[in-house]
Amino acid sequence: MPAARQYERDAFGRRMPTRLKEVFRTRRLMAKCCDRIEELHTRIGIVASGDGGGQVGLAQVQAALTLAKSLIAEGMPYCQCRCQRQGNPPGEECDLCHGKGWINGAEYLPASHRTQL
Ligand SMILES: [Zn+2]
Repeated sequence: MPAARQYERDAFGRRMPTRLKEVFRTRRLMAKCCDRIEELHTRIGIVASGDGGGQVGLAQVQAALTLAKSLIAEGMPYCQCRCQRQGNPPGEECDLCHGKGWINGAEYLPASHRTQL
């Protein structure tokens, strides 16, 4: 029985084309890392409240975890660039993705204010 074709998806759940499969596989794995960081954030809070846990700088540890999660979320692949969804080949002339064909979370939000993706 052949394996079902697995599609990678962007932040909106849209299927990504084969040429961006590895890029959005990385996105999926990075999202799992963010989930693990969130779990760790909660868990260290619970553990630090136990006997002997009071010496940990909990607020700083949790702030560092929040920062790490934010940095990953901003940099990880977010969605295809608008130049790709218009059916154009990736080109360095695109002022948004510069030929990559995709944009990250930090690039998406400013772009969404400039034009509809
Ligand atoms: Zn582009």
